[in-house]
Amino acid sequence: MQTTERSAAEQILRNLPRVNGIVPMFVNGAWQLAADGGTREVHNPANGRVIATVAEGSAADAQAAVSAARKAFDEGPWGSMSAAERAALLFKLADAIDANRDELMRIDTLNNGKPLRETEYDVIDAANCFRYYAGLATKPHGQTFDVPAPSQTFTVREPIGVCGQIVPWNYPLLMATWKLAPALAAGNVCILKPAELTPLSTIRLAMLMQELEFPAGVVNIVLGAGATVGHALAASELVDKIAFTGGTKTGRSIMHDATTNLKKISLELGGKSPNVVFADADFDTAIDYALFGIFANAGQVCSAGSRLIVERSLHDRFMDRLVERAQKIRVGDGFDPQTEMGPIISPVHRERVEGYIAAGRDEGAQLLCGGDRLGGPLAEGNFIAPTVFDGTSPSMRIVQEEIFGPVLVVQTFDNEAEAIALANDTIYGLAGGVFTQDIAKAHRVIRKMRAGITWINTYHPTYNEAPWGGYKQSGIGRELGTYGYDAYTEVKQINVNLDVEPSGWFSE
Ligand code: NAD
Repeated sequence: MQTTERSAAEQILRNLPRVNGIVPMFVNGAWQLAADGGTREVHNPANGRVIATVAEGSAADAQAAVSAARKAFDEGPWGSMSAAERAALLFKLADAIDANRDELMRIDTLNNGKPLRETEYDVIDAANCFRYYAGLATKPHGQTFDVPAPSQTFTVREPIGVCGQIVPWNYPLLMATWKLAPALAAGNVCILKPAELTPLSTIRLAMLMQELEFPAGVVNIVLGAGATVGHALAASELVDKIAFTGGTKTGRSIMHDATTNLKKISLELGGKSPNVVFADADFDTAIDYALFGIFANAGQVCSAGSRLIVERSLHDRFMDRLVERAQKIRVGDGFDPQTEMGPIISPVHRERVEGYIAAGRDEGAQLLCGGDRLGGPLAEGNFIAPTVFDGTSPSMRIVQEEIFGPVLVVQTFDNEAEAIALANDTIYGLAGGVFTQDIAKAHRVIRKMRAGITWINTYHPTYNEAPWGGYKQSGIGRELGTYGYDAYTEVKQINVNLDVEPSGWFSE
């Protein structure tokens, strides 16, 4: 089954566009190779095999895409299309994603490694995200103001213009969608750079856009490294906005690059999110979501509940059960229907995660389970067993720094104030959860948590309708919902004089 599924997916990759056998970039409505002929091999993280060779762009390719996008925005038909016409195209794209769901989810499982049940969810969510923003495009967004006569004042929302968009590898199709859908709905044009490790589903998405005859230059997909292509987009004076999802360190560098022309900026960055469990929580629910919070997508989730903060009186019973369950998680190839957790994205990232596991041991934390690579049939992939560290102290690196892997660190508290203090004790503020059956306590704790996305008695559900983003060093701005749309618009104030006469301010 596993082998059949995988070869079926490899068959699907053969449908991707190719120029001289290489998966190309999509610039100005055409498929093209890198100007300098650069290429990069893309791997399946479950077995290390090369699954495609893609074009590896450079700053020159980024600049060519920026010129195409600039022309499309300044002169192309996109700007004169009505919101209803843009919406119609985006609704069609959502339908095309649904129609190609099996193919898209298999491409992401092959390229990212996550289980099919996760990529299926991602692809459904991506279609719904395009649908949500297609709907929003035609809703009124301006305001009118009751200003002193004889003026009439109102606002309209207009697109920002050329948007550079840079995304990570953990949700390849979905992260591209979160960027493209609101930007296009609002009338912008885009140059999107997927993560260099996972470009394939984005290329397939661009094919769907090409088939639907999106005007040339409106969506450009440039492949390549962050330091070259990403940097060129962030620094370009012809780009009006840069939207980035990725690590906090990279976000800092992009913010610096964006100062060239003071472009608008949105940053969705890392996290070290607390999941607070009180002794009065529903035990099985709290166990279930503590596992889901950290081990979904092998912990490679910005909002992962990577710090379990558990009340001391519950601690021993909770940890016994959590570890028992963590050890039973079926780790393997995402194409195996039994698989519950897939691999780490790359050998380099696995070494980074292992570096943190070593640091946890060195600093004296107690390893309750995991910590090792998985061998046997999984030896060729980048697998790490679900890992839990107890006996931590707040200053440890594994408590403070984002690991971005299947590693849970446990902290213990005696009272509500201590739980809140521990929850807020990192530079991050992306997400957080609380489990208790005392609803007033749940609200008190959530209100004091310095985080942008929070959950009570659940962990991880994410909705296209609701804003997504972080406090503190987890980011700037919000994606999704109306907030995500507004972030791709400028607000224009229009003042109309209803009494058309000279003001007489200066004498004649
Ligand atoms: P990363 O920052 O290394 O890379 C993300 C993207 O930025 C990639 O496309 C990369 O090529 C590009 N990039 C790298 N250096 C660049 C530079 N100097 N200039 C411009 N672009 C550059 O992150 P990653 O390892 O791919 O992803 C993991 C990180 O992403 C984690 O920190 C995670 O928390 C974060 N993330 C955040 C969210 C969110 O919504 N807040 C969602 C997913 C992932």
